Amino acid sequence: MEVRVRFAPSPTGYLHVGGARTALFNWLFARKHGGKFILRIEDTDIERSTRESEQMIMNDLKWLGLYWDEGPDCGGDYGPYRQSERLELYKKYAYELVEKGHAYFAVYDREDPKKLLYTTTELPSDGNPFTVVFKVPEGRTVAFHDMLKGEIEFSTEHMDDFIILKSNGFPVYNFAVVVDDHLMNITHVLRGEDHISNTPKQLLLYEAFGWTPPQFMHIPLILGSDRTPLSKRHGATAVEHFRREGYLSKALVNYLAILGWSVEEEIFDYMEKIKDFEPEQISNKNVVFDYQKLEWVNGKHLR
Ligand code: GLU
Repeated sequence: MEVRVRFAPSPTGYLHVGGARTALFNWLFARKHGGKFILRIEDTDIERSTRESEQMIMNDLKWLGLYWDEGPDCGGDYGPYRQSERLELYKKYAYELVEKGHAYFAVYDREDPKKLLYTTTELPSDGNPFTVVFKVPEGRTVAFHDMLKGEIEFSTEHMDDFIILKSNGFPVYNFAVVVDDHLMNITHVLRGEDHISNTPKQLLLYEAFGWTPPQFMHIPLILGSDRTPLSKRHGATAVEHFRREGYLSKALVNYLAILGWSVEEEIFDYMEKIKDFEPEQISNKNVVFDYQKLEWVNGKHLR
């Protein structure tokens, strides 16, 4: 089976080094297996998503040499994969879950949109706004094998039913991601560890649809020197910053690659590393972003 992976940024800001590292690992994995690396713009948060951010992310990916095979702006007949342009599709699948008995409509008062009037499995036609809500099965264990962390289990005991389609017609992240990963035939999902708690919800959706889920790998987060998640407090985190400061893109990619990946030599060209990339070798511990080390790597590449 063809390996198909994706990088799925939300265009709500610049591409940061954590995102670049996730993109890199996906890219390496696809290249190693002669598969496809897909770019999907997850712009369902209408208040925070911008076209400028989308453009910035794509420019940075290109600067890093992480070209994608399908998705916006890659030429050819594919894409663009922009979730805001796929609303009809999410609606169709959300309604399908209602028909199958796995979801219901929650109807709110049009005068007071926070006030729940009733729930129903019939398509509401009284002009009031409504959401589609997924019914979480009770007393279940959801288990999956993480390529890095091994077996992970969750119980549905503390999980509430959750909205999959909002009243403005936009899907929520957990729903859109499942529909898209399925329709785009994604075989492996390599993403940040901060998404582990979303995975059980996604697995329940796969199950309700009767779809086979992809394999998951959750990558440890990048921390700052004080071991809290890397943020602006620790220094620049935008790929664009390093670009503007004159860093070589291959030095940044090289540094992101060795960050938490045990490889023998420290200085290399990422193109030469493709054949050696084994995702299971990525460290299962959080890694600290070391600005001095990056500086050192950059110096080596400059020479
Ligand atoms: N849009 C999500 C993010 O930027 C993608 C998460 C995923 O890869 O499933 O965090």
